[in-house]
Amino acid sequence: MDLNFTPEERRWQEEVRAFARAEVAPFARQWDETEQVSREHIQKLADFGLFGLVIPEEYGGHGRTPLDALLAVEAVAESCGISGRLVVDHNFGPTGLLLHYGSPEQKARWLPAIARGEVLTSICITEPEHGSDANLMETTLTPDRGGGYRLNGHKRWITGAGERELYVVFTRFGQTPGANGIGCVLVPADSPGVENGPREPTLGLRGIREAELLFHDVPIAPDQVLLPAGPGSFGKLMRAYNGQRVGAAMVATGIASAALQAALAYAQERHQFDRPIADFQAIQFRLADMAILRDAARLLCYRAIQSGDPPERYPASVCKTFAAEAAIAITNSALQVFGGNGYSRNYPIERLLRDARMFTLGGGTVEIQRMGIAHVLLSGQG
Ligand SMILES: Cc1cc2nc3c(=O)[nH]c(=O)nc-3n(C[C@H](O)[C@H](O)[C@H](O)COP(=O)(O)OP(=O)(O)OC[C@H]3O[C@@H](n4cnc5c(N)ncnc54)[C@H](O)[C@@H]3O)c2cc1C
Repeated sequence: MDLNFTPEERRWQEEVRAFARAEVAPFARQWDETEQVSREHIQKLADFGLFGLVIPEEYGGHGRTPLDALLAVEAVAESCGISGRLVVDHNFGPTGLLLHYGSPEQKARWLPAIARGEVLTSICITEPEHGSDANLMETTLTPDRGGGYRLNGHKRWITGAGERELYVVFTRFGQTPGANGIGCVLVPADSPGVENGPREPTLGLRGIREAELLFHDVPIAPDQVLLPAGPGSFGKLMRAYNGQRVGAAMVATGIASAALQAALAYAQERHQFDRPIADFQAIQFRLADMAILRDAARLLCYRAIQSGDPPERYPASVCKTFAAEAAIAITNSALQVFGGNGYSRNYPIERLLRDARMFTLGGGTVEIQRMGIAHVLLSGQG
């Protein structure tokens, strides 16, 4: 693992950080309160070049490395977790699946538009009855008479559902049970038979719509199949999804960094017993513990992104688990440093704590990550 970032990598992250502080941070509270982010803002992220960072230039992207993309995610998430997640989705996750498994035609059709911010994309795995046990999903693709297919199913917890143009949908192909029956198709949101289900009222990261999606006999042409089902297909899809996990871990870490910075400033401003509260060792140790956790999370993210493209399962699951739990601990500690003000919506900490809470759940829970880590350890590959 190379932790000696090049001057260019450092400069890039500083550029993104400066952009995010000016163009993103001032709106983060408003997006939480109104529970929406305008398309105009999303376009600003794309115009700055934050979408399609890892997409090769021949497909309209910026041809940067996954590490560059992760550094951008960190810099954006320090200003706003929601915007950090948008950057993740349009470099890793659904975009990563297209990049790794798309045909040249599929890439040419979708990737340039993703990089330009014209097409936003979501990944659709979870169902009402199948979350952690996604290999039992019931959404099904069946052949129709014209040589194509029909898609039927019900997805839940789809980030951006109803507001994005392209859905990357995991589905069972025919009746084959278990993981061997699962592949993936590309579904434009305006396809006939795609129905937007209800929005989830969420605790945090409230500017992004989390909602259900229903597919009723949606026609799928053969060229919409991203990866057909078969032995190994589900594993390949999940391997590409590791990029999303590392990206999510970095968003959690960016949120934690924001909480640490806020707590550091507050501890030096707030006086009690005629002294700044930063003079008290109890506060100092709390700040130190927050920094230790944040630094470790950050390093695990950097390690994971450099483990392969897409990243390896073990480092991805380790960083996702650690960073998600660290972000909750750090934001919770920051709230304590703020005292009663930490509990007030007039200060940013309660929002950061609510935002941080998501990462032990979305992208596979920490329990499922631990199962994956243990599997690797017990098979002697850890
Ligand atoms: C904000 C948010 C955004 C999301 N975005 C997306 C998205 O864009 N696309 C998408 O497809 N999904 C998305 N998800 C869904 C997410 O991936 C699932 O919530 C997650 O996989 C867990 O599924 P579940 O909620 O059904 O929980 P369940 O699977 O019902 O699990 C409930 C609890 O039981 C535990 N558990 C389950 N099985 C085991 C086991 N074998 N051993 C030990 N513990 C176990 C879980 O860890 C959890 O603590 C999102 C979720 C959230 C909260």
